[in-house]
Amino acid sequence: MIVESEKFDFILVGGGLQAGLMASAIKHYKPASKILIVEKDQHLFGNHTWSFHRSDVATEWEWISKIPMSTWPGYAVNFPGNFKRVDIPYCSISSTEFGEFIVCSQTPGFHVEIKTGVTVHELAADHITTSNGRFDGQTIVDCRGRSTFEGGIGYQKFFGLEISLRDDWPDSLPTLMEANIDQSDGFRFLYILPFERRRVLIEDTCFSENSQLNVAESQEVIGRYLRQKQVPHWDVIRKEQGCLPMPFASEFRPGLTNELAGGYAGGWYHAATGFSFPLSAKFADIVASSPPEKAKENIRALAIKNRFQGTFSRFLNRLLFHLVPPKKRFEIFRRFYTKLPKQTIERFYAHAFTKTDACRILIGAPPSGLTPIKFLKSYKEKTCQF
Ligand SMILES: Cc1cc2nc3c(=O)[nH]c(=O)nc-3n(C[C@H](O)[C@H](O)[C@H](O)COP(=O)(O)OP(=O)(O)OC[C@H]3O[C@@H](n4cnc5c(N)ncnc54)[C@H](O)[C@@H]3O)c2cc1C
Repeated sequence: MIVESEKFDFILVGGGLQAGLMASAIKHYKPASKILIVEKDQHLFGNHTWSFHRSDVATEWEWISKIPMSTWPGYAVNFPGNFKRVDIPYCSISSTEFGEFIVCSQTPGFHVEIKTGVTVHELAADHITTSNGRFDGQTIVDCRGRSTFEGGIGYQKFFGLEISLRDDWPDSLPTLMEANIDQSDGFRFLYILPFERRRVLIEDTCFSENSQLNVAESQEVIGRYLRQKQVPHWDVIRKEQGCLPMPFASEFRPGLTNELAGGYAGGWYHAATGFSFPLSAKFADIVASSPPEKAKENIRALAIKNRFQGTFSRFLNRLLFHLVPPKKRFEIFRRFYTKLPKQTIERFYAHAFTKTDACRILIGAPPSGLTPIKFLKSYKEKTCQF
């Protein structure tokens, strides 16, 4: 048994996606490490489905492929007037399975100590102070999740049902965007992941100017879609909801804090998708593979490498939420999927797009009814709520 004064190689503060990716990467690069994960809730990882494009993560990162996940060879997007199959492999991790994987990942020499129901009050360079005492560590990583935002933001809000069916679901591939639904509140689509023939996740998702979820309405939208698909009976296994920030004016930049902060706490998420998997995986790979004294320096270099993509993604959000009227926003995504080469789509999601990709994303006939005054005024906006 580990005594509390013992020094850990890594202390991961917060037990969410970033901590899980960190633990997986450390196990691969430094298999003799002692890790402590401290989580304030009673369980690790909460209630999530974390998805990503396979091309978001480097093929040589073997540690990612060891995490249990559902995979598909591609997916569909369906917009008014355009259906498209996208041949980019797609993956999804269940937070429950990921939690079990981390808890059971002890091997001789590799030890993950997990403390749940313990709140961390203070992080220092070599220790943390918690509701359960002090713990010393060589590398302390802040994985506490969402931070505050100083500039304006839009929202990606969603409510989903994971359901079991009595008959087979008609599609074997995910549908990332089923946008043949009402578009009056902003870009709205259903996100469908068929995990098994008779087990499917359907999420009603909206890119909106406000963060309020209307769960009853989302349930109705999902129910209507299921009836259209001729699915009369279903049982709810799990519900999932969330609201992700899509900042357009935030000054918050990853890698520039003094602490080693990953995931949402460190700004390691894609501003234009709200997803953090690609950047959190990069963060984990670098921190886990670097000599401890080099980790911060290498993370700063990663932040600098990602600066253009971050700035451009925030600019895209500003255009989306301020220049394009809500009803027309789907046209931007339809053009993205139907006109851009697959490699640009891959690099966009992976936060690895080039300046040429950025030009390709911007150039094209704009939707009608643009609101340039609102767009210009957005530069004066200073407040945000989250
Ligand atoms: C429902 C939902 C679905 C999502 N789906 C995707 C997706 O498919 N793909 C994707 O890339 N992104 C997705 N995201 C966005 C993003 O990846 C997640 O929010 C992700 O969980 C962020 O990881 P994180 O580790 O930074 O924070 P979190 O996963 O939120 O983990 C932070 C943890 O720190 C704990 N904590 C906070 N403060 C303390 C403290 N003082 N002491 C101890 N513990 C503390 C929290 O309880 C929490 O468990 C989703 C978000 C939501 C809400």
